[in-house]
Amino acid sequence: MKNILLIQTGGTIAMDIGAGQTPGLDPERWEELIYREIPELEEIASLHPEKLFFEDSSDVSPLHWDRLISRIGERYEDFDGFVILHGTDTMAYTASALSFGLRNLGKPVILTGSQVPMRNIRSDARRNLVNAIEMATLPFNEVGICFNDFLFRGNRATKMSIGDFDAFASPNFPPLAEIGLNIERNVEPPQPAGDFEAAPGFDDRVLLLKIFPGLSQRHLEALPLEEVQALVIESFGSGNFPLKEPYSLLPFLQRCLDRGILLVITSQAAYDAVDLSKYESGRRAQEMGVLGAGDMTTEATLTKIMYLLEQTGSVEATRGRFPQSLAGEVSAAGGSRPDRSGTRVKTD
Ligand code: ASP
Repeated sequence: MKNILLIQTGGTIAMDIGAGQTPGLDPERWEELIYREIPELEEIASLHPEKLFFEDSSDVSPLHWDRLISRIGERYEDFDGFVILHGTDTMAYTASALSFGLRNLGKPVILTGSQVPMRNIRSDARRNLVNAIEMATLPFNEVGICFNDFLFRGNRATKMSIGDFDAFASPNFPPLAEIGLNIERNVEPPQPAGDFEAAPGFDDRVLLLKIFPGLSQRHLEALPLEEVQALVIESFGSGNFPLKEPYSLLPFLQRCLDRGILLVITSQAAYDAVDLSKYESGRRAQEMGVLGAGDMTTEATLTKIMYLLEQTGSVEATRGRFPQSLAGEVSAAGGSRPDRSGTRVKTD
């Protein structure tokens, strides 16, 4: 039987019945609750539960990512796989961060949580937890998010729904597995290119700017940029933004570049890839030295930049390494995306 380390970090899955807004469950009693609600877990794997922290995931930060990476590093040789119970709100950020910090992973690290607390009779916790533990016994050499009968690559997933059980989607990459009567595996597991290494460390001197029609230059001028090393701009469509006065974004982009800030463009549209060569604004940005994020999620884009800034110690080195895939988070330019119906299937 496989040995799985089950790491508790909080979220709705561990909250008490009817206490959706407050962490109603005593953090020390969650283990007892899991075994009481799902006694069959013992049949799937030999579980070793531990509580690392206990937070609503809105409070999870790079400091928590570091703790998770270090903990998995410490226990890596002792277990066949790792399951992390985590709130859904920032699960995609944590999964992305872990995918970068756990280099050359040769074992599964599976995050899961639930939309409804485990003690609620209609909770999705039971199914998600059983699935996640089973996935952690299989040879997935990567960080995944297991939710609603899908296993997604963690750095390709994004939270799409506040209320549906199908809370996550992977817009630009097929699910690693679909869990039904049988487990359909869609993607060959990546082979580690070297020895496993736990490398925590994220630089938080990054900003995310979502543009909208009417974003005023007055507000942009007032933004303090002293501490900023990189700015991610969530633009329209394939990487577009206003060019005409009085709302042109160009003066702001130039001001950032003059300060040595790395600029990266992602899209407000989840499906398909940013292509800066397609329209005038993207082309202007490209000429200025702005990077496009391809088909990366905003979560992966931000955490990748935070990771590279810390690990390389330089904006220039981050700029050089950003376009390359570190953990399967980005497709080669022109890569194909999966059929939409296969990545987010309604349950009702
Ligand atoms: N606010 C919760 C969290 O992210 C939501 C959830 O777990 O579904 O911790």
